[in-house]
Amino acid sequence: MKVGVLALQGAFARHLKVLDGLGASGVEVRTPGELASVDALVMPGGESTTISMLLDSSGLRRPISERLSSGLPVLGTCAGMILLAARVTDGRSDQRSFGAIDLDVQRNGYGRQVDSFEAQLAVAGLDEPFHGVFIRAPVVERIGEDVEVLAWVDGSPVLCRQGTVVVAAFHPEMSNDDRIHGCFLDWAFAV
Ligand code: GLN
Repeated sequence: MKVGVLALQGAFARHLKVLDGLGASGVEVRTPGELASVDALVMPGGESTTISMLLDSSGLRRPISERLSSGLPVLGTCAGMILLAARVTDGRSDQRSFGAIDLDVQRNGYGRQVDSFEAQLAVAGLDEPFHGVFIRAPVVERIGEDVEVLAWVDGSPVLCRQGTVVVAAFHPEMSNDDRIHGCFLDWAFAV
């Protein structure tokens, strides 16, 4: 199976490595043609405002939106979480998100207290904690009824799932630990 990694801007390279290590063939996605060939998609961290603009200039916004509506499995990390959310506060006014998962986020929500931090996360379904790296991460402000929270930090959800849409406020590709990508692939390709 082919897993695309949106490669318009940001931290996409390490996702490709993790996916390859798991035996999925990871491909960079920058064009609608590249998107058409993938069975699942990773939206990486980076700058959601910039990625949002590049989604328009690359012509990817509409095809991604259509694929998401027809059930394309997607893993969004940090900026990717922001792009998949239903509503974004403290974003730029022209920034748009896909509404693929029923949650609201505050962009840079941890920023005022602590820009970046790391935390050992107890993740539902994993035996050992996962080391979460948070970089100017979004804070989840609301979760819909159909959203399952898989990990929390100080009472805030940081890893959530709604069907085959999975979002993390942190960067799971940075921890030399492939378990979250592994869970995503299991959910994405479960028969
Ligand atoms: N703060 C960034 C944004 O608003 C996200 C940071 C990240 O992806 N590490 O998009």
